[in-house]
Amino acid sequence: SVRWGLIGASTIARQFMIDAIRAQGDGEIAAVMSSSPERATAYAGENHIPLAVSTLDALLGADIDAVYISTTNELHLEQALAAIKAGKHVLCEKPLALTSADARKMVTAAKAAGIVLGTNHHLRNAGAHRAMRDAIAAGRIGKPIAARVFHSVYLPENLQGWRITRPEAGGGVVLDITVHDADTLRFVLGDDPVEVSCFTQSAGMAGSGLEDGAVCIWRFKSGVIAQSHEGFTTKFAGTGFEVHGSEGSLIASNVMTQKPDGLVLLRTAKGEEQLSFDRDDLYTRSVHQFHAAISGQGHPAATGEDGIWSLASAEAALQSASSGRAVKIDPKL
Ligand code: NDP
Repeated sequence: SVRWGLIGASTIARQFMIDAIRAQGDGEIAAVMSSSPERATAYAGENHIPLAVSTLDALLGADIDAVYISTTNELHLEQALAAIKAGKHVLCEKPLALTSADARKMVTAAKAAGIVLGTNHHLRNAGAHRAMRDAIAAGRIGKPIAARVFHSVYLPENLQGWRITRPEAGGGVVLDITVHDADTLRFVLGDDPVEVSCFTQSAGMAGSGLEDGAVCIWRFKSGVIAQSHEGFTTKFAGTGFEVHGSEGSLIASNVMTQKPDGLVLLRTAKGEEQLSFDRDDLYTRSVHQFHAAISGQGHPAATGEDGIWSLASAEAALQSASSGRAVKIDPKL
């Protein structure tokens, strides 16, 4: 069995990851760490976790095999490095760190220690996105030409905290959602982004100079161009993902979500077809792949290197927004 320690008494763990770990035949949550002893105890009680601790040393000293890091983003680096040093496998939330240079430190340390490091990019685990990736790889839309990502949402009130008030914690919509879009585009297209141009806005929700909306234009290695829109302030916008090729278009709606929802249409000269795909829980599949990687079978659904790519992409988008220029993306891998 895999015994997990949770680093961070977070919403995402409570809403998705605790269940995802427990859904594995061999997954167990042994401990939770919060920076506040009271919050640790309350969280452990509510979620039936046997051990509540309030220091990293206490968590890493517990009988655990792996940690899931879902604290605010500025804490990921130090916590991941400590876990790696303690010999624990690390599934870390996105963005891996505040800079791609720091994310590289995590990947390098994990490699040197023989530790599995994964990035929790859930969308790679969605049946919809895997169906699109497979269709493209099988040539069903011919040569991919352009992609469009619609991922502007309304940040729920219970999450209107550090994301819109704390730049030092890695707030802002680009580190929150653009990282996912960069990763999902890479995954679905099977291609890497080389350059990005980005405009950001503060549309009334985020303060402290943070952006709560972004539109990016991406160029990929193959020549594919893409647009993506991320936001916290649009209450009534749906989500979607489209890839248009020389022989067909993939048009997916309601797929940029945490649930296995949505529809994928393939439109070609032959007409329109709805692609079928599995409706497995995204986070459960993420943990499943991670467990397999720990036992020496394959890789996490998104590796540490994938986390460097998505962060280098988001970082370039932020540099573009502040400089007014297109910025090259270089993960330095
Ligand atoms: P939360 O705000 O719920 O939790 C982050 C941290 O905030 C916790 O670790 C906790 O610190 C602290 N905190 C929680 N409640 C309180 C409180 N009442 N008072 C003071 N501090 C509190 O964040 P999220 O769960 O939304 O996000 C956590 C991480 O997960 C981020 O890196 C985010 O980017 C990522 N994420 C990923 C998603 C995905 O689908 N891949 C989805 C959502 C988030 P402590 O642990 O010290 O108690």
